[in-house]
Amino acid sequence: MSKGNKKKKVCSFQAETKELLNLMINSLYTHREIFLRELISNSSDALDKVHFQSLTDHELLGNDYELKIEIDVNKSNKTLTISDNGIGMTYDEVIENIGTIAKSGTKAFAEKLKESDDVDLIGKFGVGFYSSFMVAERVEIITCSARAEKGVRWESEGDGNYTIEEIDANKRGTKITLYLRKEAMDSTNPSEDFSNQYTIQNLVKKYSNYISYPIHMDFYREETPMDKDGKAVEGAKPETIIDNKVLNSITPIWKKNKKNITNEEYFQFYKHHFHDWNEFAEVIHLNLEGKVEFTALLFIPSKAPSDLYDRDFSKGIQLYSNSVFIMNDCKDLLPDHLRFVRGLVDSSDFSLNISREILQHDAQLKVIGKNLEKKILEALKKLLKDSRDKYEEIWPEFGKSLKGGIYMEYKNKEKLEDLILFNTSNDESKMTTLNEYVERMPEGQKEIYYAAAKDQDTIKRMPQLEIFKERNIEVLYFVDKIDEFLTQNLDKYKDYKLKSVTREDFNLNDILKKDEKDNAAEGEKEEKDKNSEYKELLEAIKAQLEGKVKDVKISKRLKSSPVCFVNSNSGASFNMEQLLKGVNQVAPKASKILEINPDHAIFSVIEKVYNKKNSNAELKNISEILYNQALLIEGFELENPVEFSNNLCELLSKAYN
Ligand code: ADP
Repeated sequence: MSKGNKKKKVCSFQAETKELLNLMINSLYTHREIFLRELISNSSDALDKVHFQSLTDHELLGNDYELKIEIDVNKSNKTLTISDNGIGMTYDEVIENIGTIAKSGTKAFAEKLKESDDVDLIGKFGVGFYSSFMVAERVEIITCSARAEKGVRWESEGDGNYTIEEIDANKRGTKITLYLRKEAMDSTNPSEDFSNQYTIQNLVKKYSNYISYPIHMDFYREETPMDKDGKAVEGAKPETIIDNKVLNSITPIWKKNKKNITNEEYFQFYKHHFHDWNEFAEVIHLNLEGKVEFTALLFIPSKAPSDLYDRDFSKGIQLYSNSVFIMNDCKDLLPDHLRFVRGLVDSSDFSLNISREILQHDAQLKVIGKNLEKKILEALKKLLKDSRDKYEEIWPEFGKSLKGGIYMEYKNKEKLEDLILFNTSNDESKMTTLNEYVERMPEGQKEIYYAAAKDQDTIKRMPQLEIFKERNIEVLYFVDKIDEFLTQNLDKYKDYKLKSVTREDFNLNDILKKDEKDNAAEGEKEEKDKNSEYKELLEAIKAQLEGKVKDVKISKRLKSSPVCFVNSNSGASFNMEQLLKGVNQVAPKASKILEINPDHAIFSVIEKVYNKKNSNAELKNISEILYNQALLIEGFELENPVEFSNNLCELLSKAYN
């Protein structure tokens, strides 16, 4: 040991690390094999890093420029070694990266692990290195950072302590030796025997086939020397022949001809590369030639990540230049509402040391982005047309995102309009597109009707729907918070206006057949007449509700309920007002027009009271009750519940005394 090396010292893992190790060793029994994938991925990351840095530091690689991973299986020593000539780690980095678990995800991981022994959690939480203790009773790391003069030796038995010491630097990179546990060398069960070269070879193929650096392994075989006639040389000892093989296919999948790629291969790649263990819904493999040349491999996932709607959601498209990774999370390629798409773009036009600032103004990137967007929208359209069930399955995951695109006044709005789905009164078990709604519309219907509320049950109870039910007119159910806000940008689909069933004016007469129309026209007249017939009564009620309602009218839409509110044709609706209040925004007040059902028994009561002499106080009382009832029906809070209750009691006691 040269002078000045830091002496070997024993350190203790953090409490969380200890707990994690303990859990890993003692509670995960299945899929222990994934430790190999984790270690290889770490090596691959380390190789990416050194490659990346060598682009600006040309001396960095020196003679050791062939970047690779090597695996060595030594049955007699009971070891498995994974080495790379990647970036390596300094003394401090080893302590920081391996000795402590600084990452916030680790604690959450340990919690989850207590609940389930789902091994996929390891990949999801990125605590990969520790998985080596599932198969090893002792792990040794020898590492040397690309720029450090000293190397580091680290060792642990996963029992809570580790030792660390400085050693003389020899070779850039990291070598991890696993001293295998007895049960990890079970020769009766080859898939669990990690001292078996063929097991390791299969695992590399299974999990790490597309790692972009060669993964080498020496295969040993005994061969008896032969003479020139092909006969064994008498008395000669068998020789050990070493075949060095590259275990992975290296050529990135996106560079292969898509005709030769199976869905299973895409899935293996997707899983491994994007750490999503759910099968994707659709894959888009593009190869564009022309002014801007690029290859793209995009996936429409089947499940949304839990943080998709968080403000700092950071998944984006990865950029590669000639198969070399240059950037994660390039947000400028896709519009926000397609952020759920995972994938990568590889173009030799990208410079390797491109910065995010340059990217924002990069004309080529804009062209690529446009193309990707077009293809994704086409793929979604095709999915909707050809695999409706699948589309409806992924809709709850990403639907809000797509709707967001329409809301944001987006240029491909028309394409998005055809991709959105709604529940509908037509068939509550199925969703509908706007186009399907329009195709079902009876002749003469000029508007697309919708009802907006917090859920389907609330909508079904809305009194404003009564006439729609009676006349069998389809109504879309707007239950997503964003839905009604969409109409600010999507006021029309094709030529049809989107209209809420709670708006003041609507004209269902247009859709009736001729003879029905004549009757309805009569009805219309009648109602008009009714509004003028009861003009004074309505004005009297309005006066009692001064400041609370904009108007009081005879209802055309109520069939069994006594009263309801409707909104003016423009301005906020009740639903919008409620939603904005819910997120503490200054909510514009929706105008309230009180509609009264002229066929309801209560109407004749009002009439009677109105016609009585000196009944002003009573009329006030009834008007207030009707108003409060409408509030209750609409889901609003009563302004003065005590007064309402007193009024009601007074009325009841009058009726029954
Ligand atoms: P993750 O890889 O998800 O960050 P790990 O526990 O597997 O979590 O690894 C912790 C850290 O240790 C890595 O982020 C990396 O900085 C470092 N590391 C692990 N393996 C290597 C390696 N072969 N070469 C260089 N650094 C490594």
